[in-house]
Amino acid sequence: MFGAMQDTAARMPMIAGNWKMNKTTVEAVTLSQQISFESDKAWEAVEVVICPPFTDLKSVFNVLTFDHSSIKLGAQDVYWEPDGAYTGAISVSMLKELTCEYCIVGHSERREYFGETDETVNKKVKALLAQGLHPIMCCGEDLDVRDAGDTLAFIGEQVRLGWKGVGEEDIAKSVIAYEPIWAIGTGRAATPEQAQEACAHIRGVVADFAGADAASKMRILYGGSMNTGNAELFLPQPDVDGGLIGGASLDAKAFSTLVEMALKAK
Ligand code: PEP
Repeated sequence: MFGAMQDTAARMPMIAGNWKMNKTTVEAVTLSQQISFESDKAWEAVEVVICPPFTDLKSVFNVLTFDHSSIKLGAQDVYWEPDGAYTGAISVSMLKELTCEYCIVGHSERREYFGETDETVNKKVKALLAQGLHPIMCCGEDLDVRDAGDTLAFIGEQVRLGWKGVGEEDIAKSVIAYEPIWAIGTGRAATPEQAQEACAHIRGVVADFAGADAASKMRILYGGSMNTGNAELFLPQPDVDGGLIGGASLDAKAFSTLVEMALKAK
């Protein structure tokens, strides 16, 4: 068990939207325009990232560029090989060309439906960092693990394996999202205390293998049914540096309100 590291000043809050398999290109243009319209200069104090499906990246990039927006672009997955015969896969260079700065890795839906493992997560983390993109690595337990009282050990192991062999400087620039599986898309969020406990534990595990400095700089997000009705409880927690938002990121008003709440919380 580890205590919270309070060096929150060094960490810019982050609100990242995971659009999952939602929004056609036309819809993505509309949503990104709406979010961009809601944004203002103050948003620069929060790192705002939107992660549309691959097929929307180019058009969302065009919208954000046209608006000179500070909102950053992220992808939802990547393949670790640089190129070649990997039908259906997308490389880091392809994401980089579209100015993606972030990429979600190891989301529980990819682990459950697409065979993602801690080993493939680690390969993706390394491939992204090698080209200067920042991974947002997801970890989180299912209800069986939580009910057995094994949550901290389970997520600690996911974190250790996901970041195996990664240098301290790269870890400091990266992001972990703690997303209990039972809270994703269910409307049943964790309690703020559960989120803080898990995020503090993750920071302690990172400190163990990468040192206290890297751990105090790395952003750790909470994700799982975070919305405008509960975010004010999560965002002020000392080890919660923001949110990875699924459902609520598909509504421009809700997503913008979450950014405003993150601005006020820290
Ligand atoms: C997610 O999928 O990363 C997520 C947090 O989803 P939701 O906010 O819908 O629970």
